[in-house]
Amino acid sequence: MKIIKTFFAALFISYSSLAQITIDAKFAGGNVIVEQIVGDTVYFKPDLRDTEGEWFYWYFRAISNEPKTWFFKATKPNILTNLGAVYATDGGLTWQWMPKEQHLNANLFSFTFTEPDQAVRFALAPPYTQANFEKFITPYQDDERIEISTLGQSNQGRDVEKLLISHFDQPPTSKIVLLARAHACEMMSNYVLEGIVSTLLSGTTKMEKLLAQTELMIIPFLDKDGVENGDQGKNRLPRDHNRDYRGESIYATTKTLREIVPGWTEDLPWVGIDLHNPWVKGEGHEWVYIVGNANPKVEKAQKRFAEILLAEARSSIPLKMQDLFMAYGSSWNTGGNYEKGWPFSKWAASFANENMLMSTTLEFPYALVYDKVVTPEKARAFGKDFIYALAAFMEEQVP
Ligand SMILES: [Zn+2]
Repeated sequence: MKIIKTFFAALFISYSSLAQITIDAKFAGGNVIVEQIVGDTVYFKPDLRDTEGEWFYWYFRAISNEPKTWFFKATKPNILTNLGAVYATDGGLTWQWMPKEQHLNANLFSFTFTEPDQAVRFALAPPYTQANFEKFITPYQDDERIEISTLGQSNQGRDVEKLLISHFDQPPTSKIVLLARAHACEMMSNYVLEGIVSTLLSGTTKMEKLLAQTELMIIPFLDKDGVENGDQGKNRLPRDHNRDYRGESIYATTKTLREIVPGWTEDLPWVGIDLHNPWVKGEGHEWVYIVGNANPKVEKAQKRFAEILLAEARSSIPLKMQDLFMAYGSSWNTGGNYEKGWPFSKWAASFANENMLMSTTLEFPYALVYDKVVTPEKARAFGKDFIYALAAFMEEQVP
């Protein structure tokens, strides 16, 4: 009997020592530093690269050679959302928030691999790279209301997509510039943008009316290099893309945008909107908000737009007026935040021109809006609300 026990014990150790997990981030948007793997636990943190201070974007693939529960421990605080993390078992096509039982604490989650050599991807929130955009935009390629070209090339030579959407058979009477991913890690903006674009092209009376009068320029990935490389992008040194609108631009995309927007808007009324995501979690970061502009005329327009957005909202993303507008001078929204350079919204508001109707930053959370879970579908549904509100705003401002 004793011999048998020893045999099984030896077998168990041997079995356990064969369990192996490999971690990598060698794909678009990938980002991780694995510090160590001890026993059944992987210790990891985000690769900050050229980021000043801490940030929280990470996205990796794990392959377990056998069915087994592994633990993933963040070695830095505040790199998991209040829902933990997302996972995908299909190579990153569809993402789900992990079940509550697997979100063990603020810095720890587990995952049970069910097949040998199963590859599972994990990330802070559902990643979105050029491949996602291509999949989304392909069905619209022959639509005559959309022109797909490039803003130019990024600093590392990647094409940076530019969409123009309008009824091109008649000249527009107003223009809208919409940007996403000035901060590479802020992927939720692209799901909102998908909702905006699909609604714009949905053929409803209100959208057709908007497109008959307005031309939109949409840049889905302002920091294309950062998105594909898996950078944080936020607080990039020496300054990030959204601090690159004063003095000489150091990024090709912001430089080009500053060159072409004044001519493109001509002397027409226009609106500029920069889509962002806030900090990872907690009070002030788990609701949708508009960042109040220092320019009183622009601020007034932002407040009006917030009112319309609140009234137009049909999706399950809750909005509250007291949170939806963050006044200039409150929280982080102060002059001190712009010492490294101007953001898009400040630059656009500086056009000394009555045609500048509104410029704004919109913050949309990664995981939770109040107590409601954010998913790609819900972000798209919010995008639909957003563009209907913007259509109503334009109708009011440019009757
Ligand atoms: Zn941002």
